[in-house]
Amino acid sequence: MSEYVKDLMAQVKEKNPAQPEFHQAVEEVAESLAVVLDQHPQYRKAKILERIIEPERQLMFRVPWVDDQGEVQINRGFRIEMNSSIGPYKGGLRFHPSVNIGILKFLAFEQVFKNALTTLPMGGGKGGSDFDPKGKSDGEVMRFCQSFMTELQRHIGQFTDVPAGDIGVGGREIGFLFGQYKRIRNEFVGVLTGKGLNWGGSLIRPEATGYGTVYFAAEMLATRGETLEGKTCIVSGSGNVAQYATEKTLDLGGKVITLSDSGGYVYDPDGIDREKLAFVMDLKNVRRGRISEYVEKYPGATYTALDPSLDHNPIWTHEAECAFPSATQNEINVKDAANLLEKGVYVVSEGANMPSTPDAVNLFVDKKILYGPGKAANAGGVSVSGLEMSQNSLRMSWSREEVDGHLARIMKSIHTSCVEAANSVGTPGNYVNGANVAGFLKVADAMLDHGVV
Ligand code: NAP
Repeated sequence: MSEYVKDLMAQVKEKNPAQPEFHQAVEEVAESLAVVLDQHPQYRKAKILERIIEPERQLMFRVPWVDDQGEVQINRGFRIEMNSSIGPYKGGLRFHPSVNIGILKFLAFEQVFKNALTTLPMGGGKGGSDFDPKGKSDGEVMRFCQSFMTELQRHIGQFTDVPAGDIGVGGREIGFLFGQYKRIRNEFVGVLTGKGLNWGGSLIRPEATGYGTVYFAAEMLATRGETLEGKTCIVSGSGNVAQYATEKTLDLGGKVITLSDSGGYVYDPDGIDREKLAFVMDLKNVRRGRISEYVEKYPGATYTALDPSLDHNPIWTHEAECAFPSATQNEINVKDAANLLEKGVYVVSEGANMPSTPDAVNLFVDKKILYGPGKAANAGGVSVSGLEMSQNSLRMSWSREEVDGHLARIMKSIHTSCVEAANSVGTPGNYVNGANVAGFLKVADAMLDHGVV
């Protein structure tokens, strides 16, 4: 670690105590940028990275609501408005009991670089709540969303800050949030993305993150003259990203053998085909059940419950060529990474944000596998959110083919930017450096143009 990164990290840890995920995200970027900051002293002089690390604004608020038993419940709401140098703040809302300010700052920080890579004019932000939608009735989720938006609405707007979904926030939640915004502000505008198709949403938005992650893997494979055809793939998660990563893998001729949730994972040696995927989508999106129910329907598969006492997760111990981690942060530790490599995996394309720990990332990079970090590989979701904003401004809707075509082109362009930027700092094939450097340069130049603000 260079002296510069050491000093920077000491300051970051002192000013942001007890935020390990945020420290982890900053350290990875700072290490990647060492060469660029040496090549361009103007960024260091203007303290660009130091400014990017400091959110432009952080909001934290009380979210009171009444449950079905008539009890008053109190959650905490957050919005981190991280950087608006290339466009309005843009990034999802996460509803999960683990949500705290450090996790949202890591996500908002990553989002700044990711959004810059998309080629679209979007700054970075992230928000959410420690509310757990699991086990709640539709009425409870609606009352929570209405209370959350009653405060958030004064801080966001179509030209200011445009939230979207993330863990625990899908079409149902976006609907309730949008309804309350419209009611309070008396305006029908594209203030959220991930909207329903008949009220301003974009075709392909639900599919975009998962599809994009697989497109990114296909681009990485193409550098070696290969395709996904016939490849066996491990997918984690069974939510939005995992479902559509599975669908696109099937489209491109691959075979998916696993899916998971926070309770455990299923392994289906015959592969999860379209019919089985339709069952999972109904199970997760409509019936809101657990992935363990998969083996009741398909007895050829096995279910393994998560065992927190293990030093590894057995989902990463199956023979495969590709892995699409699509659940949550730090779900692949260094032991898991070693298991993946041992079982033949040489493509890891991250649907989730920061699913690999720093040691796991270093192992992938050292072994020179095709490793696509989340901020590049899962940028498809926010890209189509950007396209949803464009369609809202035009008051038009584009066809499925048109949006999917834009998505595929954007993923290709992100891949090219990463490859070129990795080459420019002397680390060919290192997509971590590529994504960090390419994202940083776009934001840094805009910040230089804007002066010290
Ligand atoms: P989702 O629909 O809520 O699904 C999340 C999945 O991950 C569920 O299967 C969930 O299981 C599992 N999961 C969540 N937290 C977990 C934990 N602590 N341990 C184990 N499993 C856990 O969310 P999503 O939109 O697919 O998001 C998944 C990942 O993709 C996140 O890292 C998110 O930041 C990232 N991402 C999402 C988008 C997007 O457009 N949605 C865009 C870019 C990146 P349970 O149901 O049991 O909780």
